[in-house]
Amino acid sequence: MYAIKRGFFRLMRRIEDKFSSCCTYFQLFIFAIRSVSFNSFSSKNALFDAAMEPVFWTVDKVAKYLGPMFVVMVTCLTTSVVLIYYFYVLPYYIGDEVGFVVFFLVIYGHWLLVNIIFNYYKGVRTLPGSPPLFTSEVGAVTICKRCIAPKPPRTHHCSVCNKCVLKMDHHCPWLNNCVGHFNHRYFLQFCVFMLMGTLFVSISVWPLFKEEFFDIEKTYANFLRYLAPIKGVANAVKAENNKNPEHSIINNMVKEKESTFHKVIIYEFFLTFSVTIALGILTCWHVYLISRGETSIERYINNEERKRLKKVGVVYKNPYSFGFVENFRIFLGLTNKRTFWRHILFPSSHVPIEDGIVWSIHQDNLRTNNGFKHV
Ligand SMILES: [Zn+2]
Ligand SMILES: [Zn+2]
Repeated sequence: MYAIKRGFFRLMRRIEDKFSSCCTYFQLFIFAIRSVSFNSFSSKNALFDAAMEPVFWTVDKVAKYLGPMFVVMVTCLTTSVVLIYYFYVLPYYIGDEVGFVVFFLVIYGHWLLVNIIFNYYKGVRTLPGSPPLFTSEVGAVTICKRCIAPKPPRTHHCSVCNKCVLKMDHHCPWLNNCVGHFNHRYFLQFCVFMLMGTLFVSISVWPLFKEEFFDIEKTYANFLRYLAPIKGVANAVKAENNKNPEHSIINNMVKEKESTFHKVIIYEFFLTFSVTIALGILTCWHVYLISRGETSIERYINNEERKRLKKVGVVYKNPYSFGFVENFRIFLGLTNKRTFWRHILFPSSHVPIEDGIVWSIHQDNLRTNNGFKHV
């Protein structure tokens, strides 16, 4: 009985050994298959990117071709708003208001206009900066897969411009240019001055707009004017013209002028007010990012890093952030010799403090993040 029992256990152990060795062989087989078929592009993200490639390609091409049209559009719309202000809004204040108000409108308006034109021109014409080709100069941390060239920290490849851009923020179709290291300040200053400009115009147009838009009699008169040819009222108008032609012509001219005034005031207000809302949101977002020492692309990357470190109880800290005030000082390029008064409130072509290749790093923040990596 004992011998049978021992034999049974021996048999079971042998089966178990065989099974475990089979498992090992199976695991080795799977490992061999995986190792020969592995490549870094087989992740979910890479598959998603590959599937979305036609969409990205179309968006890039559309952005590239729409860019020049957008620049023309911004220029034309801004010019129209300024001309309407000169010919319709300012005369209203000159006729009705005291000298001080007119003086303020003219000085403040022109200060904004000069800054808007300067920063827009510089934003469109200034290249954001590309990394040098030689590795020794770059001290590169990665290689761009598209350019097959060294990529310094904070540099990203723009698929619209098809090149690497230093401290790339985003590709802006309104500037038809990439927003990066050397024109980021112009972009933000353009946004801020344009926002102040549209707010200024919409506030000063408001009294005229209120009169034109909410005046029932005027609206009714314009309504009748459009209905005249349709309802056969045209004949009655003609008869009236024949009775007293001179008076009617003058009357029509006044009506015509009023109608143009009515249209341009409504156009001026709606355009500037809607731009104020949209640009206000965009500008606040960029001010928030800059206050944290982040670009739009880094916001996404840092969020991913934040989630990854949160899982192990580490709070991610941006190594390029030096605090609210210091981040703005660096961003605006204010050294000891440069002042906010002269170099930001008035047009200035000063270059950023850093070269866009080698970056100052907040060592405490870096240690916090790296502390996790060595655990
Ligand atoms: Zn590149
Ligand atoms: Zn670009």
